[in-house]
Amino acid sequence: MMSELHQLSVAELARQLRDKKVSAVETAQHFLERMAAHQDLAAFVAVDENATLAQARAADTAIAAGNAAPLAGVPIAHKDIFVTRDFPSTAGSKMLAGYRSPFDATVVRRLAEAGTVTLGKLSCDEFAMGSANESVAVPAVGHGAPAPVRNPWDKTRVPGGSSGGSAAAVAARLAPAATGTDTGGSIRQPAAFCGLTGIKPTYGRASRYGMIAYASSLDQAGPMARSAEDCALLLSALCGPDLDRDSTSLDVPAEDFSRKLNDKLDGLRIGLPKEFFGAGLAPDVRAAIDAALKEYEKLGAKLVEISLPRTELAIPVYYIIAPAEASSNLSRFDGVKFGHRADKYVDLLDMYKKTRAEGFGDEVKRRIMVGTYVLSHGYYNAYYLQAQKIRRMIADDFQNAFKQCDVIAGPVAPTVAWKLGDKSEDPVAAYLADIYTLPGSLAGLPGMSLPVGFGDANLPVGLQLIGNHLQEGRLLNLAHRYQQVTDFHLRTPGGY
Ligand code: GLN
Repeated sequence: MMSELHQLSVAELARQLRDKKVSAVETAQHFLERMAAHQDLAAFVAVDENATLAQARAADTAIAAGNAAPLAGVPIAHKDIFVTRDFPSTAGSKMLAGYRSPFDATVVRRLAEAGTVTLGKLSCDEFAMGSANESVAVPAVGHGAPAPVRNPWDKTRVPGGSSGGSAAAVAARLAPAATGTDTGGSIRQPAAFCGLTGIKPTYGRASRYGMIAYASSLDQAGPMARSAEDCALLLSALCGPDLDRDSTSLDVPAEDFSRKLNDKLDGLRIGLPKEFFGAGLAPDVRAAIDAALKEYEKLGAKLVEISLPRTELAIPVYYIIAPAEASSNLSRFDGVKFGHRADKYVDLLDMYKKTRAEGFGDEVKRRIMVGTYVLSHGYYNAYYLQAQKIRRMIADDFQNAFKQCDVIAGPVAPTVAWKLGDKSEDPVAAYLADIYTLPGSLAGLPGMSLPVGFGDANLPVGLQLIGNHLQEGRLLNLAHRYQQVTDFHLRTPGGY
């Protein structure tokens, strides 16, 4: 049975642990061995066997005492954008290499309180800026130097980003589930590229406390797992108000998202934005999406055409607002308080300059420069303020659309996972590929991705579902119903 442990869902694993069919220590050891055997994927940037096994032993003690939390002993890995006490936290940046946080992020703490055991920290694009997990500046475990994460479906391809380590690890069954963060698509797109289910909740549902900030008005945490059922379990555990620590935390009670998974879809109206099905969408992705939509019709849903007329504007708007916020958030990395400090400098200004020049990678510097520019006195009105106005219009477009439909569906990304290196020299090409995920992010809406088939080169395709505020339960219900009649979420890449 041990050899099968990594094929179990979170729900099933939790059951077996509770029933003492397997111990938390055995489970943790099994996954630690798999992680060591598949270091070529470069998914992990920090592991600590002793820390993991100590957590597992505590879970076994709680299970033996009969007072175990619901996910007691279930291993999980965290994107390295969450700060953790037991493992270093780097956000993929040289700036924070070796940094140890004195506390756990709220999301990490909540999942630990639910009983999960941490397997390690997962690679991500530096400060969560990217779509391919190639822009990472700290070495992966087992690698002497920074390495791009590889997609387990085809190791010559990217896993997506910025939560690429999370996606690769779960797809290769190195962890039953992982956390990710999504600012403009970083949970949904890597989930799509690696054949997983992932959900970004409504802005404010998950606490941002201890999540190293990229763009504060957009950043949200969420789970990545195989199925909607598993995502529901994890999302229920990680969400909830954190009003004292995150001023944008929503004051709505935590929900049990597992309860409504089996609701019937009869008459549910699925809106298809015509702008999501235009010329930019690759035919192989379109074919898989169309087939999934047919399946939804069979399940009783109705398809209606809608319009999100400012879809294309989401790209320039996001790539003004996110860098603007990033330039401000990243000003705290100055060599004084955290992380890297230049060795040699002549005065304070020189120390700041050298520290930041050495500590940040190219993509991060590019965004700091763009952000500083659009916030500067001469350009604030022309760029930043305009972008804020259009952001509001994009949010209004969604509210208009939700008069005609209950949920919105479309592709996550225009293509399947691209080859390593394909877009790394051309940042704008990568930005354009975010077109379908950015609008929902700007509107603060919950969004998810679920695997619905395979496209070119036999690579996974994800369907995106976007709901109105606080409609995560409906999205998970919709995904779960589909997963009851299909098996794409159970497929494993060859060799894993
Ligand atoms: N690809 C987008 C970016 O580079 C989104 C990243 C994210 O969601 N963290 O900003």
